[in-house]
Amino acid sequence: MASLYRMELSQLKGVGAKTAGLFSKLGLQSVGALLRFYPRDYENWSETVPIASAPFGEISIIKAEVASPVETTRLSGGRLMCKTLVTDGETDLILTFFNNRFIPNQLHQGNTYLFRGKIGGTFFRREMVSPQIMREGANIPIRPVYSQTEGLKSNQIARAASQALALLPDPLEDPIPPQIREKYGLCDLRSALFMIHTPNSIAEIETARRRLVFEELLYLQLGIAQLGNESKVRSRYRIGSFEDDFYRLLPFAPTGAQRRSVSEMLADMRSGNAMNRLLQGDVGSGKTAVAAALCYCVAKSGYQSALMAPTEILAGQHYESFLNILRGSGVRTALLTGSVKGKARKELLQKLSEGEIDLLIGTHALLTEDVEFRNLALVITDEQHRFGVTQRLRLQEKGEHPHTLIMSATPIPRTLALMIYGDLALSVLDEMPPGRQKIATYAIGSDKRERAYGYLRKHIDAGYQCYIICPLIEEGESDMASVEEYEQILRESPAFEGVRIGTLHGRMKNDEKNAVMSAFSKGEIDLLVSTTVVEVGVDVPNAVIILIENAERYGLSQLHQLRGRVGRGKAKSTCILVTDAQNEEAAARMKIMCTTNNGFTIAEEDLKLRGPGNFFGNEQHGLPKMKIADLRTNMETLSDVQNCAREILETDPALELHEHRMLRSEIRLLFQKVGGYGIS
Ligand code: ADP
Ligand code: MG
Repeated sequence: MASLYRMELSQLKGVGAKTAGLFSKLGLQSVGALLRFYPRDYENWSETVPIASAPFGEISIIKAEVASPVETTRLSGGRLMCKTLVTDGETDLILTFFNNRFIPNQLHQGNTYLFRGKIGGTFFRREMVSPQIMREGANIPIRPVYSQTEGLKSNQIARAASQALALLPDPLEDPIPPQIREKYGLCDLRSALFMIHTPNSIAEIETARRRLVFEELLYLQLGIAQLGNESKVRSRYRIGSFEDDFYRLLPFAPTGAQRRSVSEMLADMRSGNAMNRLLQGDVGSGKTAVAAALCYCVAKSGYQSALMAPTEILAGQHYESFLNILRGSGVRTALLTGSVKGKARKELLQKLSEGEIDLLIGTHALLTEDVEFRNLALVITDEQHRFGVTQRLRLQEKGEHPHTLIMSATPIPRTLALMIYGDLALSVLDEMPPGRQKIATYAIGSDKRERAYGYLRKHIDAGYQCYIICPLIEEGESDMASVEEYEQILRESPAFEGVRIGTLHGRMKNDEKNAVMSAFSKGEIDLLVSTTVVEVGVDVPNAVIILIENAERYGLSQLHQLRGRVGRGKAKSTCILVTDAQNEEAAARMKIMCTTNNGFTIAEEDLKLRGPGNFFGNEQHGLPKMKIADLRTNMETLSDVQNCAREILETDPALELHEHRMLRSEIRLLFQKVGGYGIS
């Protein structure tokens, strides 16, 4: 296989330099890569249906005899039309072809063929236009369908793939050793490649797919383990339990869940091993206070902590809340983001390396080479799934096996969490601080929008603030246009005359965003029109209404996060979902939003409706891109894979054994493409 990765595609028959160029558009540069480019779907020519039961408007494959000679007519404009009647013995079907002069030679009266196409016409006169044709008994009953690119059709790719298969050595060395294949019921690599590209039956596709999915997830899991997600690493930082002193600093009594989480974490940090823990808690459940408790205990034990947040706005807000909570505690806290520059930055770094800063809060800026700690004992990342795996590890490397805490507002299924974070323990804030009120949530049609504006206006006049999340844009489009257009509409609307409107979108520079957010926090803006950039963690208690346009376009968990921007103060808060979607799924989702405020329930429903992939949006988890495995649907295989990886690593933690050398190189290959993973 390794040699095939070095063989260029132009070595295949029928693939010239030009076609090879088209292949490289699909990311395929070698024969080996082509073999690993699996079909995205299959046409099953072995499953034919009687004409009478082929559903109208859908693609079916039927087997029928040509019952009349092919009639050819020339249409105006010179177009050629061929018509013929076919029958399966019960029902007739008219076939029509345009501009295909080969049809009369291809279809012979009295012979039987397979036809694949959409059934149209009427109940009494069924028709199929330009179907694909296959001779009866042709020996490819199942055809692979590949993702194609302009100028390179699926069947060309299929032809090249079969040629590539013919080049596979026999026997082919398999990266997965035989005893593992046997234990988990996996076929060998050579058969898997044959069956995925040229299957003879659906069962073969399934056998191949199971093997290839397993393999890919195994490389992923082992790769992540190699990145240094070792469980049970010793840590020299023993942290004292000063939490009771900390609680006295708080203006409120901690909830039971907060106390429990803090003591679970302190037990980890006393144990002599490095803590590796995930703190899950719904928006508003008080994760900040838990994190602050730890930083306090770490500082009192003479060590440093770092907290990394995904955006500058969020890092800034964390900094403010930590300052608030830790005021008078003697914990020296500093903020480092991309906007801290020059002399200020230099001084800060100096203090940090001398141990005069106990807690450093910031963005990715913390990862910069010259940021040096004196004795970093605790690393906290907020909204972790927005960071890549490597970014978290890079921060950890600034200390010697520091304790790590990941905070997340999205409940992640445990198997997925293990995959992404390695072997980690879980604490859950399953109890809200007292006095939290439910955010009243309503779904309305756009015809009620003006009335909703009136409702916002009433609250703005009463001194409150509001958010409007404007229509979601298509991927790749600028969200700026959307925000600016919407702002224009609002400025022209009599409902908002005299209202101070601010805007926030992804195209703005960090300082611009910060300026807007801080003006909103200070109450200098009444109405903030934004895209989902306000989604994460922003805390303005005086904001009491959030209106979300095109609500049906968001996942439930995301709507819940957005809704969590209000209801943070004492006043009654409202979330208005604007949608004109009529379909059942959208209605079901709106109903869930309107009936529950519990993020965990919502996440579960979301899982049922859309699968866990939705938690991560587009590859926000920072894992390499999967070819065939789908983290949404391969949950069962995932737990097999996790067992398998554990077994392998128990006997051979660094994958040094001869029988694991190919595993090693496959892992390197998978992680190489993401870049920056640095697996040796
Ligand atoms: P999140 O889990 O979303 O990060 P925060 O830590 O921002 O939640 O907390 C949300 C709000 O609740 C903050 O204003 C915080 O001061 C307040 N809070 C946290 N814990 C408690 C508590 N035990 N009692 C009362 N208010 C609390
Ligand atoms: Mg938070």
